[in-house]
Amino acid sequence: MKAKLMANSSEFGSQLSIGSNASRTSNSKSESVKVIVRCRPMSDKEVKGGHKQIIDMYCDRGVIQIHKSSTGEDESPKIFTFDAVYDWNSNQTDLYEEIFRPLVDSVLEGFNGTVFAYGQTGTGKTFTMEGSADKPGIIPNSFEQIFNCIARSHNQQYLVRSSYLEIYQEEVRDLLSKDQSLRLELKERPDIGVYVKDLSSFVCKSIKEIEHVM
Ligand code: ADP
Ligand code: MG
Repeated sequence: MKAKLMANSSEFGSQLSIGSNASRTSNSKSESVKVIVRCRPMSDKEVKGGHKQIIDMYCDRGVIQIHKSSTGEDESPKIFTFDAVYDWNSNQTDLYEEIFRPLVDSVLEGFNGTVFAYGQTGTGKTFTMEGSADKPGIIPNSFEQIFNCIARSHNQQYLVRSSYLEIYQEEVRDLLSKDQSLRLELKERPDIGVYVKDLSSFVCKSIKEIEHVM
């Protein structure tokens, strides 16, 4: 089987949302596409600047409510429902265990899976996907899950290849290429579907190796 992990940074939209998509999953109860919203806490700068929070989150119901209070008048709030919402109290571990571990499980069973982080600059995509050494995000958590699963498996062969690309202002760059001035092309073929031409890819046999690639 192949496990493909891609980290994607597209800087547009107004809010971080994370879509997780398994084309077919082993769990018939789970949706094939899930849209999850995570809101970060206000930064010190935003608090000092006197900015007000305009979002209420109802994590138990997967609902967010946006209200504009800047005018003083209470316009009717806008309400949106998602597969899940995570507020400023959410932690990396809960998010991973509840949303992404099941997705990576299905990838390890041979299904395709994608995690796509979407949102304006500064909304928390990098924090959520990469995190830090003491608060690891989705990417390091998935490395651990993948290689732990492979280490425990018997009578099964796995092939892990990693690529790392960036789509920024409609341009595709190979983050693992020595030449960062190259722009790659998006192509399509009947047998393999959509792919990025000449994207480099490295076979990885351990967490250490894939971390090194990253
Ligand atoms: P983006 O990659 O979308 O541009 P970042 O991930 O760099 O945004 O986040 C912007 C800032 O907000 C960073 O300083 C980051 O540490 C902080 N941040 C983002 N999400 C959270 C969160 N859930 N909890 C605490 N801090 C966060
Ligand atoms: Mg970022």
